[in-house]
Amino acid sequence: MTLTIVALSDTHSLHGQLAIPDGDILLHAGDITRQGDIADVVEFNAFLGTLPHRHKVVIAGNHDFCFERLPNRCRQLLTNAIYLEDESVTLEGIKIYGSPWQPWFHDWAFNLARGEPLRRKWALIPPDTDILITHGPPLGHGDRTTLNEVVGCADLLEAVQRLRPRYHLFGHIHEAYGVTRNEHTTFINASSCTFKYTATNPPIVFDYGL
Ligand SMILES: [Zn+2]
Repeated sequence: MTLTIVALSDTHSLHGQLAIPDGDILLHAGDITRQGDIADVVEFNAFLGTLPHRHKVVIAGNHDFCFERLPNRCRQLLTNAIYLEDESVTLEGIKIYGSPWQPWFHDWAFNLARGEPLRRKWALIPPDTDILITHGPPLGHGDRTTLNEVVGCADLLEAVQRLRPRYHLFGHIHEAYGVTRNEHTTFINASSCTFKYTATNPPIVFDYGL
């Protein structure tokens, strides 16, 4: 039996411009808002309510300031999704873990210094995670910027190589949208918005064999 999973990220309040394929589970890897306004969360939640997927899982990204500043309020507003912040949920036998943190970059939300502070967050990922969702990419997968620099988190790569989730979903580096693989894990940068913030990258759909 397989489940159809639909992955998107970095919609930045432009979700209405995307054609969202049907599926069983919808996953969003953060940056649902433009600049972290509560009103954007309300609107995004209403949009989720119109989609047919049985389960919807969302994490926050560096633009989603309100989830860092008003966590309880934002969780309450997101009635049409399961919000994961350094926690997991098991859906139809698939263990999904979500975390919003990324390497520090100009005082955005959910920023931590590279090294020990991020390592401590990745140490929380359960070893039996099937799908890992983070906002930022690991080093070397979906992390090459327009300046041709790879900016992913080395400690996150180390964690993924050790824990071997079947899928690692993220966004953040819009221009690195696409899929890569290593021996154990498929890496998906599902950024819906491009570098210029046009929502033209289609959601990435995959079948998950149970
Ligand atoms: Zn973004």
